[in-house]
Amino acid sequence: MQWTKSYIPTLREDPAEAELISHKLLMRAGFIRKVTAGIYNYLPLMQRVLLKITQIVREEMDNAGALEITMPVLHPSELWIASGRWDVVGKEQMRLKDRHMRDLCLGGTHEEVVTDLVAGELKSYRQLPKNLYQIQVKFRDEIRPRFGLMRGREFIMKDAYSFDVDEAGLDESYKIMVDAYFKVFERCGFDIRKVEGDTGAMGGTGAHEFMVIVDTEGGEGIIYYCDECDYAATDEKASFRGNLKTDSSASPQELELVHTPNMKTVEEVTAFLKVPATKLVKTLLYLADGEPVAALIRGDRTINEVKLKNNLACNQLEMADADTVKRLTGADVGFAGPHGLSGVNFVVDNEVSVMNNFVVGANKDDHHFINVNHPRDFKFEQTTDLKMAEVGEKCPRCENGTLHSHRGIEVGNTFKLGTKYSSSIGAKFIDEDNQEKPIIMGSYGIGITRTAQAAVERYHDENGIIWPKPIAPYDIEIIYTNSSDENQKRIAFDLYNRLQKDGKTVLIDDRDERAGVKFKDADLIGIPVRVVIGERGIKEGIAEVKLRATGEVSKVSLEDAAEKVVEIHDNIS
Ligand code: ATP
Ligand code: MG
Repeated sequence: MQWTKSYIPTLREDPAEAELISHKLLMRAGFIRKVTAGIYNYLPLMQRVLLKITQIVREEMDNAGALEITMPVLHPSELWIASGRWDVVGKEQMRLKDRHMRDLCLGGTHEEVVTDLVAGELKSYRQLPKNLYQIQVKFRDEIRPRFGLMRGREFIMKDAYSFDVDEAGLDESYKIMVDAYFKVFERCGFDIRKVEGDTGAMGGTGAHEFMVIVDTEGGEGIIYYCDECDYAATDEKASFRGNLKTDSSASPQELELVHTPNMKTVEEVTAFLKVPATKLVKTLLYLADGEPVAALIRGDRTINEVKLKNNLACNQLEMADADTVKRLTGADVGFAGPHGLSGVNFVVDNEVSVMNNFVVGANKDDHHFINVNHPRDFKFEQTTDLKMAEVGEKCPRCENGTLHSHRGIEVGNTFKLGTKYSSSIGAKFIDEDNQEKPIIMGSYGIGITRTAQAAVERYHDENGIIWPKPIAPYDIEIIYTNSSDENQKRIAFDLYNRLQKDGKTVLIDDRDERAGVKFKDADLIGIPVRVVIGERGIKEGIAEVKLRATGEVSKVSLEDAAEKVVEIHDNIS
C-alpha cells in the first residue's frame, strides 16, 4: 500500500479527550476516529488489525470445533423477557420500537437468541455437543463509555455458545474453549492470565476472565493473585482467609450506650473511643429490589457489593439514601447498628461471627453502643463472605501464600451457564433414556476491538505504538528519505514490489514529506520492520533496517535487500 493512496490521518498533538495512552496513540496514529461517546470509525490501519485478530480468533474457534454462524443484531423483547433479563440488564440495553410499537433491542450478547435458535433444532443427545459462534458488532449503553475502544457502546465481539447433555460434557467443552483462548491470545502476542471471575448477571456455576497484565490506568480490572500457588481472581470474585478465630480471652461485657457527638465515620468513632477499627462493626444499609438490607462487616474491611448482590440474588442493589436510613433507623447516616434494628434483613460477614465486645451504631443520632455481643444483642443465622480482597492477606487456597494485586485488561471471558437459558427459553433434548432435559450451556466472549487497543496499551513507547508482529497492520514499512530523488524512489518501489511478491504486506511512505516527518510517523504507527532508502545508503549500496520493538538497526546490501528483509521479518518473534 502506498501511503498517499491510503487514509492515515496522523496527528501532531494528543487529542484532548483521550485519557489513556493507547487511546491517544490510536487517535494520533490515524487508526480510529470518534463519532460520538463510545462509538468509533475504524480507519484502514485499524481495520487491518481487526481483521488479523478476527482471523486468529476464527481459526482457533474452527480448530476447536466451533461452528461459525451469524445471528441478528436486532432482538425482539420477548426472548429477553422469557430469560428474565429484560429487567435485569436494564439501561445498559439499547432499546427501540418498531412501527407497530413492539419493543426491540440491539444485542449486547446473544444467549437468548442462540438458545431460541437451538430450541427445537437440537432435540436429541445424538446432536450434542455443539458449539456455535459469531464475530459481530455488539451494543451496550455503558454508564461510562470511555478509554476509546476499551469500553465502547458499539464494539466487536466474538461470542460462542456451547450445548451439552450433562455437566461433564460442559466441563469438556469449557476446557476446549479455555485452551483455544490461550492459543488466541498467545498468537496475538500476549502473555495472558486466566483468573476466576464473578458469574454476575449471566447466571451459572463458574467463570473465568482472560486478562492482559498492564501497569497503566488502562487496566480497569484488578486481579488478586497468590505468590505461592496459582490462585488468581478478579477483585469482584477474590477472597482471602480472614480472621475466623474467636477471641476466647475476652468475656462479654455489659452493653453500653455512649455519646459520640458528630462521629460518623469508622475513623472518627474508633479514634474517639480509642479502639482499633477491628473492634467496630459497620452496618451498611441497602435496598435490594426495594427491600431494606443491612450488611454487617468489620470496621477495617471494605464491602464487596458484587458478593452482597450474589448473596441476596437480587436484580438491583443500591445504597439506601439518607431519607431511607432515617426512616429505617430513626437516625442520620453514620449511626446505624444491628441492636434493636427491625424490619431489615441482615447479611453478616463471617468475620463478624468471631468478634466480641465490639462497637456499633445505636440507631440514635450521635450515639454508639460498645460491648456489643451476639447472639445476646442481635441475632443472625448464617454468615457469608462480603469482603473485598486486600493485598497482604492470606491466600484462600494454599497454606502459606499471600495475596498481591495487579491491574489488567479483560479481553475475554468464559462462563458455565448451566440451564439458566435453556430452562427459561425451552431448549430441551431427549437423552439416552428417553428423558427430556434442558441443554447444559456455556458462553464464551472475546472483545475483538478491546483486544486491539489492549495491544497498544501493553506495547508502546514514548514515540508510538509497537504492534506485535501477528496483528500489525503491515509487516514492513519502506521509507525513502528524499521524495524528489527519482533514483531513491525507483529503488524503494523495486523493493516494495519484491517484498510483496515474497508474501509480505508492505506500506511505502511515498509522501512528499521531509524524512523527519516520515520517521516520526513510522514510529507512531508502529509497523514491526522499517526499511530506509537514503542517499548515503545508496552510495554505500545498502538499506537500513530497523526493528520497531527493539530499535535494533542492521544494514543490508541493496542487491539482496528483499531476501534479507524477509528473513529479518521472519525471525522476529
Ligand atoms: P466488563 O466487565 O469489562 O464490562 P463484561 O463482563 O461486561 O466486561 P462480557 O459481557 O463477558 O464482558 O463480554 C465479553 C468480552 O467483550 C469482554 O471480555 C470484553 O473483552 C468485551 N467487552 C465487554 N464490554 C465491552 C465494551 N463496552 N467495549 C468493548 N469491549 C467490551
Ligand atoms: Mg460489562
